[in-house]
Amino acid sequence: MSKIIYRDPNVTIFQSALFQTNTTVVRTDDIVIIIDPAWLPEEVDTIRQYVESVRRDLPVYLVFTHSDYDHIIGYGAFNADKIIASQAFVDNPNKDAAVDEMLDFDEKFYITRNYKLEYPEINFTVYRDGVHLRQGHTKMAFYLAPGHTIDSMIVVVWSLGLCVAGDYLSNVEFPFIYHSSVDYENTLEKLPVIHDKNWFTRLVPGHGDPALTITDWLRRRTESLAYIYALRESIVTGIPFDEESLWQRYGYSRLQRKYHFDNIALMTREYEEGLWTWDPLYNPEEHAGDPGPVEEEPDIDD
Ligand SMILES: [Zn+2]
Repeated sequence: MSKIIYRDPNVTIFQSALFQTNTTVVRTDDIVIIIDPAWLPEEVDTIRQYVESVRRDLPVYLVFTHSDYDHIIGYGAFNADKIIASQAFVDNPNKDAAVDEMLDFDEKFYITRNYKLEYPEINFTVYRDGVHLRQGHTKMAFYLAPGHTIDSMIVVVWSLGLCVAGDYLSNVEFPFIYHSSVDYENTLEKLPVIHDKNWFTRLVPGHGDPALTITDWLRRRTESLAYIYALRESIVTGIPFDEESLWQRYGYSRLQRKYHFDNIALMTREYEEGLWTWDPLYNPEEHAGDPGPVEEEPDIDD
């Protein structure tokens, strides 16, 4: 069963028994926002019941940070007024594969659900950085965050100082780079700028504990960048990557070793294609906070 790992008057984080997958539910005087409802049927049902108990006649928004199947598996259980994801999420050429992964998972564990497993139909698409959405006094900003997947997206709820980051800045996972290490790095570089434009203290990752202070999420960001730089150095120089230190930091090596090796394979291909270079004198600290422009959209009032 999922448990509630964090709760304040406006924010409730449900965490699945599987992979410490987080569902964030925000409730203000204006709106209920559900982000990435997951994962097992009873867990999704608990979240659905909670939403029913607090929604009254408020609009409900359902947000997907990206299309990995563990983040969209709860979609069919919710009736939402707005369903929000990135343009790349909508354009995903592998929607059937995502649905197949959900079906495979359920059949593998003899799981039945009282709703259908489907790829989410999106009716509010985030196509660029800084798209705002306002409902009453509650204002959200969305930022494209490719790297982990091509369709990743970060959400900030202004008045609550809350950032929901999808599969970034986990304290239980090093970067899982399915799409691009260059984009991943850019997304990490963009985070302080998103912070400066929106201000948030709390950051919820897709898996693991929320970071409840700026220091905490900044430290996770540095760890993620350090992992990418160390892997690049190892690929270019041939000096073995210090895997032992990685597994001292991250506790689930039996599963995660595969993701680490997949990162090496992906980043080796990127290096061969000239997508990044390695500069031994490069100082990430000097580079921090220099991600280039983050453009803003005017408000879209609702
Ligand atoms: Zn993911």
